[in-house]
Amino acid sequence: MISTEQMLAVIKAIAQRMEMEKDFLTQLDNEIGDGDHGINLARGFKSVKEKLPTFADKDIGAILKGVGMELVSTVGGASGPLYGTAFMKAGNVCKGKTELTDADFVAAFNAAIGGIQMRGKAVEGEKTMLDALCPAYKVLKEEIDDGKTLSEALADAVNAAENGVEFTKTIIATKGRASYLKERSLGHQDPGATSSLYMLQTTLGVLQEA
Ligand code: ADP
Ligand code: MG
Repeated sequence: MISTEQMLAVIKAIAQRMEMEKDFLTQLDNEIGDGDHGINLARGFKSVKEKLPTFADKDIGAILKGVGMELVSTVGGASGPLYGTAFMKAGNVCKGKTELTDADFVAAFNAAIGGIQMRGKAVEGEKTMLDALCPAYKVLKEEIDDGKTLSEALADAVNAAENGVEFTKTIIATKGRASYLKERSLGHQDPGATSSLYMLQTTLGVLQEA
């Protein structure tokens, strides 16, 4: 179960984490892109953080939608519309809810991935954020269906995302800017998969505090 307060804490913690990882994510994007991923996300989540007080009396659906809209309007590059759509789609699923059941959380995560795929037309194995998110979702869904707690399932999902990030080092990018490099993208971990992993790790951290 996730309360509105917890969701606000998750968003705030993600904003702080993105600020903390700004240089590293930018360095990863320097290797196979244009070196702005960390800057993009830090800027976007800084705006989100400034908006947080106006979300205080909203339900979880409206909060997630607000986060998504803020990201779309403040983050440049591919990742802004992709993450923005992900949060907006998750928000649709959580419309009117002031508490999420574990099943709601799984459904929201699924909708987020659906939004990224709708927008970016990528599938797993193309060296994108989906290579962290899709394996994480699979594990989360399976374990929640098996009756594990959200913290247990999310911890295993984070492990799957970590493996996914490692996997991106072994494949060639076929979507996004890194695809211009062809085989020269090999050996480098994908910046977007890495930021997705950080979002999941941060979410887990906040939920474990409860
Ligand atoms: P840009 O590439 O426009 O500079 P960013 O640097 O902010 O944007 O984001 C790059 C990340 O976006 C990549 O590391 C990758 O994970 C993700 N990405 C790019 N294109 C796609 C896509 N079509 N689908 C999913 N993720 C993508
Ligand atoms: Mg970039």
